[in-house]
Amino acid sequence: MVLRYKDNGQIIEIVIHVLMSNKESFEAGIVYLILSKNPEEALKSLAEFFHVETPRLSVGMPKRHMKDAGCYVSIKKTIFVSNRDNLYNPFVILHEFYHHLRTHNAKHLGTEKYANRFAEKYIEAYKKTASSI
Ligand SMILES: [Zn+2]
Repeated sequence: MVLRYKDNGQIIEIVIHVLMSNKESFEAGIVYLILSKNPEEALKSLAEFFHVETPRLSVGMPKRHMKDAGCYVSIKKTIFVSNRDNLYNPFVILHEFYHHLRTHNAKHLGTEKYANRFAEKYIEAYKKTASSI
């Protein structure tokens, strides 16, 4: 996958690159969607890919989590982010999606370490794409 940029750094085109694996281009595409301010689309695509329900997304943290950038509340199937900036932060969105994924596919929420690794893997795929232009 190749991303093309305007002079100001804005992404204007996204092209699938045949040399990249489908999985990597999927991961890079998810990060691209979040960065281009389409986090709902990214969550929809992730949910389809993992065969789970699409989580809801909400700005403003529940009281107990005021200090965090994001959190996932399983009974509400909702990812909460602290502000609009974090709505477009791939690390926060992917980290919380991992917790959503774990509540569906396992009895526990997964560890913070694995949630971080999940998010980092997607961001790495995106960086690889961006640096291959
Ligand atoms: Zn977490």
